[in-house]
Parts: sequence; C-alpha cells; structure tokens
Amino acid sequence: MELEKFKDLHARFFGKSLSEEVVQSEEYDAYVDAIHEDEACYNWATAEKLKSRGFDYENYCCLMMADKVYQSLDEDGEIRYSDVDVVINKWDEGLYGIPIHDGGTSMIIINYCPWCGTKLSK
Ligand SMILES: [Zn+2]
Repeated sequence: MELEKFKDLHARFFGKSLSEEVVQSEEYDAYVDAIHEDEACYNWATAEKLKSRGFDYENYCCLMMADKVYQSLDEDGEIRYSDVDVVINKWDEGLYGIPIHDGGTSMIIINYCPWCGTKLSK
C-alpha cells in the first residue's frame, strides 16, 4: 500500500471506535494488513504511536525493538516482569534480554536484535 494512502486510512481508523460495518470493510482490512505486512506502513504507524506517548524511540536499532521495549514497561517506566506478553526487556545499562516467564525475573541476555540483526552490546 502507498504510504500516503495508509496515512489517510490511519487518520480515519486509528484510535477511533469503529462501527461493525467499518471493521468489516475492505478498506479497513487493507489497513490492518498493511500494518502487519508493509514495513514502511508499520514503521510510520509505530513511530507515530511512540511519538504520541512520548517514548524516545529514535535511540533504538529499529521500530520493532522500540515498540517491544515500550510494551514491556508500565506507566512508571518499570519492567512488567509478570506480564507474559512481554517478549523483550531492556535495562538501563543497555542490556537486552528475553524474559523467561517462570514467575521469576530470569532472562536470556541477547547481543543482537532479533528483528533487524543489529549488534546490541556496546
Ligand atoms: Zn532492531
């Protein structure tokens, strides 16, 4: 999908309560598909979301990483250790890890971004 077209649909659909009719429409379908399948659309929509929430996404290797780190934090910026939907943790020292959801705080430290392959350790 053209990014301009996507931005248009985003303005109409994002954050709105949509009627069943809209949700069933081909346009809405195409919009959702674009988020999942079109990298330019995904990156733009994710940057918009993180920007609107005041998250400093520009210091991350990629928007996927920035978004997953954002999702791992609560309103106070603390890691949500007990949330099984969290797939990545980042610590202040610049360490990244994959949490092991066994009830504790254990994790597997990773040295490369699982999404874009950038080396993470300094
Ligand atoms: Zn990355």
